[in-house]
Order: sequence, then structure tokens, then C-alpha cells
Amino acid sequence: MGDKLFKLLWNPWRYEYIRKIDSEKKCVFCELPKHSDDQSLIIHRGRKSYVVMNAYPYNTGHLLIVPYRHVGELSDLTEEEYLEMCMLVRRSVEVLKKAFNPDGFNIGVNIGRAAGAGVPGHIHFHVVPRWVGDANFIAIIGSTKTLPMALNEGYHILKSKWKDIETDVEALDH
Ligand SMILES: [Zn+2]
Repeated sequence: MGDKLFKLLWNPWRYEYIRKIDSEKKCVFCELPKHSDDQSLIIHRGRKSYVVMNAYPYNTGHLLIVPYRHVGELSDLTEEEYLEMCMLVRRSVEVLKKAFNPDGFNIGVNIGRAAGAGVPGHIHFHVVPRWVGDANFIAIIGSTKTLPMALNEGYHILKSKWKDIETDVEALDH
């Protein structure tokens, strides 16, 4: 059980990679899009921003919407960037509903270290699916890093649901 669980919970390549970026003091959100989607766990690449699985998720399916440009403030975002990020937040909620049927969502932005921003120089939106009792589940497991579903497993489900929804939207447009 222990071994199997450990393998399920980690994407070792990404863990090592993020640790390396941290140690080199590089910005993880500038680095992630330079790699393949599978390596960086990018769900979707927009024109101005991308959607990626959080490496340190609060919950299964915790997504981040990140602009390609390294900017730290909402006011630094162009209107185009900001609007696309908002559209991707909305799309992320739709995709997560289809994939995991959560009971609710937390959506937000942490600006500055005091607010808990892990990468304060590069702004990003959080979309966190919530289930009734999920906080209790995490408390029982005894670690906020322990999740009911592996990052990789969640990634493949979300990636395929995202494609389904995009295809539906394109079909409606024609
Ligand atoms: Zn950056």
C-alpha cells in the first residue's frame, strides 16, 4: 500500500524539476511552458495565458491560470491577458465539474507573500474544487500534501475533458 500510494501521488520528473527551478531561483511559471504539456502538466495553452495543475495542490484538480508574461500585479496585465485569464477560469470550472463533479469551488488570487503567494513575482489565478468533508479527509490523512487522486491521473482526465468541451464549443459556433 505504502509504495503504491507513493507512486500514485508523485510525478517524480516534475517534482525534481520544480525543486531544481526553486534552487536556481528561476521563476517556475516562466519555465513550465518551455516544456511539453505532459512534463509540465499543462492542461491548456491559450494565446496569452495557460492552465496548469498546481504542483502543490490544496485539493484534487487544483488548477492555476498563468499569463506567459512575468508580471506581479493585476494592473500589470493587459486587458487582453486579463480577459483571457477570466475566460480560462470559467472554462476550468466547467471542465472540473465534468471531470470530478465537485460540490463547490474556491477561486482567487494571492497577491504578495503576506497573502500566501508562493511565486509573488508572477501573478496567477487559483481554481480549487471542493467537496463536502474534503478538509476532514485531509486532516485524517495527516498531511495537506496527501491527496485522494494522483497529479498525473487527474491531469489525463482533465486534459481529455478540456478537449471535449472545446470541441462542443466549436461545434456550437458553426
Ligand atoms: Zn515568471
